[in-house]
Amino acid sequence: MVDLLILGAGAAGMTAGISALRTAPGLRVLLLEKKTEAGRKILASGNGRCNLSNEAMPGYAATLRFFQSLGVLTREEEGGRFYPMSGDARDVRDALTAELSRLGAEIVTDAEVQAVRTAEKGFIVQSRVGAGKRKKVREDQARAVVLACGGKAGPAFGTTGDGARLARMLGHSVTRLAPALTAVETKEDVASLRGVRQRARLLLTEAGREKAVSEGEVQFTEYGLSGICVFDLSRYMEIPAGKDLKNGFDGYEIQMDLWPEMKEEAVLAHLKGRAEAGEEGAALLRSLVRAPLAAWILAEAQAGSGGDPGRELAETARLVKHLSFHPKGLKGWDHAQVTRGGVLLDEVDQETQASLIQPGLYLAGEVLDWDGPCGGFNLEHAWETGRRAGWAAAKALAESR
Ligand SMILES: Cc1cc2nc3c(=O)[nH]c(=O)nc-3n(C[C@H](O)[C@H](O)[C@H](O)COP(=O)(O)OP(=O)(O)OC[C@H]3O[C@@H](n4cnc5c(N)ncnc54)[C@H](O)[C@@H]3O)c2cc1C
Repeated sequence: MVDLLILGAGAAGMTAGISALRTAPGLRVLLLEKKTEAGRKILASGNGRCNLSNEAMPGYAATLRFFQSLGVLTREEEGGRFYPMSGDARDVRDALTAELSRLGAEIVTDAEVQAVRTAEKGFIVQSRVGAGKRKKVREDQARAVVLACGGKAGPAFGTTGDGARLARMLGHSVTRLAPALTAVETKEDVASLRGVRQRARLLLTEAGREKAVSEGEVQFTEYGLSGICVFDLSRYMEIPAGKDLKNGFDGYEIQMDLWPEMKEEAVLAHLKGRAEAGEEGAALLRSLVRAPLAAWILAEAQAGSGGDPGRELAETARLVKHLSFHPKGLKGWDHAQVTRGGVLLDEVDQETQASLIQPGLYLAGEVLDWDGPCGGFNLEHAWETGRRAGWAAAKALAESR
């Protein structure tokens, strides 16, 4: 029997463990982790640099103090994003595992939790442990449990939706899960633009109504659009009932403003100037966009002006400000950074992360119905909820001894 059993040694689970042991030293804390090592997703986060927080989140200062206490120095970059000074996500993960070990927590890896049920004095947790075919069933008993198995995004990092399944087993309601912060497949065949990166302001509309805006570098791929600013829009693309990820987005449009600093008339004046200087064709857009994108815009301008050369420049200027693409689908779980949906927040105490359904249960991280944009928001949420869950669980355990 342990005091606190933490399901999942990811960002939220490890933080919960540290927070619990700092609150009540001497507690017996065990973490069960499905993968061969703790915090695999942290290693991949922020392209290996770990964008661990953002100053727009209420708890960011506490998070920076928390990491300082682990010896992790951070630096702020554009958009209020914080990274470890070394720019190495491994330093973040290793600092967490080192502190857990120093405080006396045990982490069992290769342990896939399969079932949780309540017992007279807490919980019984069943897992399959060991690698390959030599898996054994393991049973643990705990006075309290933190459910921190994450969501369903990035299954290569261990998150395949088990958190939602285990939460349901314990009586919680889970909203529909969908991949978010992911790339967009377009109806237009953009293969000729593959590899082009272009700064732009983006507007997402559905049936002509604004759903979201973002700004940054669009990356054109073989199938559509990628890049952080596109990921941020994907959070607002809801799959209608009865539709799926690959065909649910009729009526959606992404408009790109390729020169946000300029009004359309000023873009037209610039183009006219270039035309008067003797430029024509793709050369008109030289240095504004890359050549393949210039060719794309000009082909659309020609088609849109009905072959009237007098209208072509105006149409080109319009496209620079409103280049339109139509989403066909979203890239799925393998490509997504977070999960939209999860355990209903109404069923969880927001100050302690305690379940309002199951006494002794705490929930933290992406398993909850909360997701944020790119920029350190999602990890920040995992650290914040992890800290609260660990602290509250330890306090309750210490008081009931
Ligand atoms: C490629 C990528 C890059 C990202 N970059 C950033 C970034 O730079 N900044 C940012 O803020 N967010 C980023 N995110 C999102 C962020 O990493 C997650 O939101 C965050 O890690 C969620 O924390 P968590 O602890 O809830 O879940 P996770 O970190 O996913 O941890 C859950 C853990 O539970 C384990 N687990 C699952 N099921 C079981 C089971 N049955 N038994 C035992 N263990 C189990 C998993 O193996 C995993 O280790 C990124 C995500 C991805 C996929």
